[in-house]
This record gives sequence, C-alpha cells and structure tokens, in this order.
Amino acid sequence: MRIKNFKDLIKEVHKPGICQQCGGCVSFCNSIENDVIGMTEPNSPPKYINEEKCLECGICYLICPQTHILDDDLNKTYNFTNFSSMPLGFIDNIYSCQATDKEFLEIGTDGGVVNSLINYLLEKKLIDGAIVAKTKTAFSREAVIARNKKDLIEASGLKLDLSPQLNELQKFHTYTSSIPQLKQYKFKRLAVVGTPCQIYTIRCMQNLGIIPSQNIELCLGLFCYENFFFDQPRIEMFEKKFKLKFENIDRINIKEDLILKLKNRGATQKIIHIPFDSIKDYVRQACLACSDFTNIYADISFGGLGSMDKFTTVITRTKKGIDIIKKAINAGVIRTSKLDRANKMKMKEKISQFCQFKMKRFDNFMKNKLLTWNSQPLALEIDDD
Ligand SMILES: Cc1cc2nc3c(=O)[nH]c(=O)nc-3n(C[C@H](O)[C@H](O)[C@H](O)COP(=O)(O)OP(=O)(O)OC[C@H]3O[C@@H](n4cnc5c(N)ncnc54)[C@H](O)[C@@H]3O)c2cc1C
Ligand code: SF4
Ligand code: SF4
Ligand code: SF4
Repeated sequence: MRIKNFKDLIKEVHKPGICQQCGGCVSFCNSIENDVIGMTEPNSPPKYINEEKCLECGICYLICPQTHILDDDLNKTYNFTNFSSMPLGFIDNIYSCQATDKEFLEIGTDGGVVNSLINYLLEKKLIDGAIVAKTKTAFSREAVIARNKKDLIEASGLKLDLSPQLNELQKFHTYTSSIPQLKQYKFKRLAVVGTPCQIYTIRCMQNLGIIPSQNIELCLGLFCYENFFFDQPRIEMFEKKFKLKFENIDRINIKEDLILKLKNRGATQKIIHIPFDSIKDYVRQACLACSDFTNIYADISFGGLGSMDKFTTVITRTKKGIDIIKKAINAGVIRTSKLDRANKMKMKEKISQFCQFKMKRFDNFMKNKLLTWNSQPLALEIDDD
C-alpha cells in the first residue's frame, strides 16, 4: 500500500484551500532533510523546493492538522473523547493571572505570564531553553531559543529596522519554523510556545515518537481565533475603512475582538475595538479551516479572553501543566486574581462561546469548500502501487 506523502497534502489540503499554513510539515521535513519543501510565499501553502529529494516517508501527511489522522490517538492521550461536544478540551483549572515581574508585565501581550513562566522554569533549571518567536523582517518571524530573561525580552521586543506597528502585527503572524530549531538542541529539555495548529503537529510527532519531539518537555499553547494577513495594500484598505493611521497604533491585542491601543495624545489612551466580523477581509483564509480555539493539546493554554486588561487567562490541562502553575503561584512568579466558582464558570462560558463560534465558522467553511471543490471528495483513496 502506498504511504500518503506531500503530494497527497497538495491534492487534499492545499488545492481545496484548507491548508492552515501552520508550517508543521515544513518544520518536520526540514528536520530530516533540508529544502525538500518550504514556505516560499507569504499567505500560501508550502511548496516543493526539491521534489526529487522527497523520501516519501509520509510523516508530513500524518502530522498535518488538516488530515486528522491522529485525532483519536491524541484525544485519548489528552483525556477527552468528543471534540465537538467538548471544544474546550480537558480543563483541570482556569485562572486569571499576571506576571509579578514589571518588565514581563510591561512587554506582555496580556499579563506577561507566558514569558514569566518560561523564565521561572529556566531559573529553576527545569528546562534548558524555550523556543519562542521573534520578529525577523516585515511579516516573518523566526523561531529562536531563549535561555534567559534577556533572550525572552529580546524576542518580545521591538525590532529596530521595522516600525513598531509592524512589530505589533507580527505578534499575530503564525508561521515560525520551530521544529527544525529543536534538532540543534538534542538531549535538551525544551518548552515550545505555539498556536493550536503548531502545537497539534508537535503532539502528533510526540505520539508517533518522532525525533526531535522528545526534546519537548512542555507545550505552552496560545488561544487563537484567527490570524491576519496584512500587506501594504491591506494596511491601506484598513486605514481607510477604520479611519485611522497605522503609525498611530501603539499596541494590538486580540480578545473578544481586535483591540487597537492608539498612541497617547492626551492623558488617556484611546482604545478602539473592532469586531471580528468587520475584519474578515484581513483574516488568512487558512484560519477559516481551523476549529481549535483554546489549544486543546497544550500542557497549559493562555489567552486574553475572559480576563481583564493586563491579565492572562490560564487553563491547566496536563499533570505537568498543573504542577508548573502551582509552583509558579507558590513562588510568587505570577499572581492570580481571586475568582470564585461563579466567576470561573463565567470565564469558561465566554471562552466556550468563542469555541462554538470558531467551530461553526469551520463547519460552514468546510461545507462550502466541499461543495465548490469540483465536487471531488476531500479524502482520496489510498492507491495500491
Ligand atoms: C496568532 C495569535 C492569535 C491569538 N489569538 C487570540 C485570541 O483570539 N484570543 C485570545 O484571547 N488570545 C489570543 N492570542 C493569545 C494572546 O495574544 C497572548 O499571546 C496570550 O494571552 C499570552 O499573553 P502573555 O502576556 O501571558 O504572554 P507573553 O508573556 O507576552 O509571552 C508570549 C510569548 O509567546 C511567544 N509567541 C508569540 N507568538 C508566537 C507564535 N506564533 N509562535 C511561537 N511563539 C510565540 C513570544 O515570543 C513570547 O515569548 C493569540 C496569540 C497569537 C500569537
Ligand atoms: S521527505 Fe517526508 S516529510 Fe518531507 S515532504 Fe517528503 S514525505 Fe513529506
Ligand atoms: S496545514 Fe500545516 S502541516 Fe498541513 S499542509 Fe498546511 S502547512 Fe503543512
Ligand atoms: S486560527 Fe490560529 S491555530 Fe488556527 S490555523 Fe490560524 S493561526 Fe493556526
């Protein structure tokens, strides 16, 4: 029986327009053989660079979040059985937290909790490094290993040859080639930060026992409703539509909507909330084909939704995740806002609502895709060679 490989991803995932551009296939493939496939253009699926070098091993096909081959295995490993009835995934506890370190709080997208936790784990020598994303050039991020506080701050900080606004946009640019970074750190214990599509591929690799995923001690997952594609023409369209200048944006954040904090002109900072419905033109089509909002396979998930400004919503899921959050709270690395049962229920309901929105959007998108995709079935039969 022929093993499905990258050619099948092209047929079944790229051509129907459902590639999430997570880069999982590229990241894995580059870790075994360089330049077979690559993300060569922004906002497009990966392509063959040197097709003749393809080993036809089929791992890219297995770990792709759009083939769903390993969903049942992952659901068993991560404690839940039916994603559609439980889109929040397994939840041990939910918190609203903030970094106690002023610098991490200041540079944090929300409460600076992710960086604080990584720093704590590094200081306690519970990990040797963390793969985080750093802005490289306009609309590209690179995976870098952070080994100390300085590295974490540098990765989160501004890149001087880019405008601060572009740096803010980069926060919501998905693809970072995290997995090839891992092979350089064999036998190290690493944490990885990623969006749901990125963590999914890592978990598939871990379930398959594929090197170098065994280096990953901890998956720190970010919530992700959608991701944007802003090139110059789109920036201009956006400025016109929302009657603002990009250069006046100080910070960008995503919670229930897109939040733009404008540069201070007077004593108070102007904050603009733009509903997701109004920014459909800027969302990467790939994200419409994605159903996981809360990063259900992560050890710990983090987002802004459900928490007040400058606090991060934290969901603990695995034993490792639970232990680390408890230790960090006890050590005073992060502080938690006091939440009673009713508050926690409210947070869960709000997050659950966004999970449902995302699943509904996914269902509609996939239905339309199936209807319009030349009436060809998505899953092709495996050819017997
Ligand atoms: C693309 C994207 C979409 C998001 N959508 C939502 C949303 O819809 N709703 C919501 O509530 N929250 C969303 N979030 C999460 C939110 O923006 C914050 O990242 C989260 O709350 C953690 O905040 P923090 O201040 O605790 O993290 P920080 O302490 O600021 O640390 C964040 C860490 O993550 C790393 N990082 C950031 N992006 C990436 C990436 N793509 N790959 C790998 N590492 C990365 C940074 O280098 C940094 O180390 C999204 C995040 C991203 C990247
Ligand atoms: S070598 Fe393997 S992982 Fe890389 S493209 Fe070919 S089949 Fe996919
Ligand atoms: S969804 Fe991710 S793993 Fe699948 S083909 Fe696209 S980039 Fe590759
Ligand atoms: S919505 Fe987020 S997790 Fe889903 S494909 Fe887009 S970037 Fe990845």
